[in-house]
Amino acid sequence: MIKSGDSTIWTEIDFDRQGKQVGRLHLPYSVTRSAYGNIDIPLAVIANGAGPTILLMAGNHGDEYEGQVTMVRLIRDLEPADIQGRVIVMPAANLPAAMAGARVSPLDAGNLNRAFPGNGGGTPTWQIAHYIDTVLVPKCDAWLDLHSGGSSLHYLPFAAYYQTGEDAALDGQAEAIMRAFGAPRSVRVTAAPDDRLAAASGHRRKIPYLGGEYGGTGSVDLDGVSITRDGTLRVLAHLGVLTTTRFAVPPPVQTRLMELGGHDYYVLAPEAGLFEPATRLGDSVRRGQLCGTVHFIDNPERPGVPVHFRRDGLVVCKRHFGRVEPGDCVAHLATDV
Ligand code: CA
Repeated sequence: MIKSGDSTIWTEIDFDRQGKQVGRLHLPYSVTRSAYGNIDIPLAVIANGAGPTILLMAGNHGDEYEGQVTMVRLIRDLEPADIQGRVIVMPAANLPAAMAGARVSPLDAGNLNRAFPGNGGGTPTWQIAHYIDTVLVPKCDAWLDLHSGGSSLHYLPFAAYYQTGEDAALDGQAEAIMRAFGAPRSVRVTAAPDDRLAAASGHRRKIPYLGGEYGGTGSVDLDGVSITRDGTLRVLAHLGVLTTTRFAVPPPVQTRLMELGGHDYYVLAPEAGLFEPATRLGDSVRRGQLCGTVHFIDNPERPGVPVHFRRDGLVVCKRHFGRVEPGDCVAHLATDV
């Protein structure tokens, strides 16, 4: 009997079978147009003998595309003979959001990366989080979750891991995976993660988790695709899973190691209006420097309201949309280690 709160997601995929399986997770979704319907979420398992299991995931946020492109290509390209161990690939984790080109699911307004550890008896997004947390992550020795800025943000590409601050072994594994990924920038997030994040699920399960931001603006960034593709293959090689040399993976560039801390790294819009930025992505800024100005196009006599950076740092993220509401993030910084 399936008890309330258990996962009702099922699959024909046999996680213990050798070889390559490309199938679906079936999330029962009973609605007027389909009484016995399911949400069919793609999943691939590629297995060859004994070795570590790696979870590769994209589409945690549906409008973050570089990782989704990399993961669907990897599902087609990677064969069992290329690996030792097992690779589980989930290219569109929150499928309804990904198909809608939206950050959150149109079915339940669910943000998968604010839904962990999930709820087997919840709405679809919370059910997906629960399945990842209780079924997939416990099978794994490492977890890559590829993000970008989505529709509203634009990022300088970087890999990132969240420090636990208390589990030195887990932090060391995650940092080694981040360095193996070999992105141009690598960020150690020192602020404690919101416990609804996938990263926090990784911490609770004691599985090294690598996130990162590889583009944004609701588009597909060419550099972001090659960084995620090459980085994913380098991590698989680092963990001893990728044994072939048939993929031409360039050596990693010298990464710029940075940190991302608490609220003072972020700049928020103070009022609703039209935001005129004063800096570019990649600019080094000082505390108190002008970040931008909120203008009031419906009230042109009113002076614009300036917004300032609250600490020194490098501008790694900027808001993409011009219009802002109070509390919108218009930029955030990272600092050199
Ligand atoms: Ca994201």
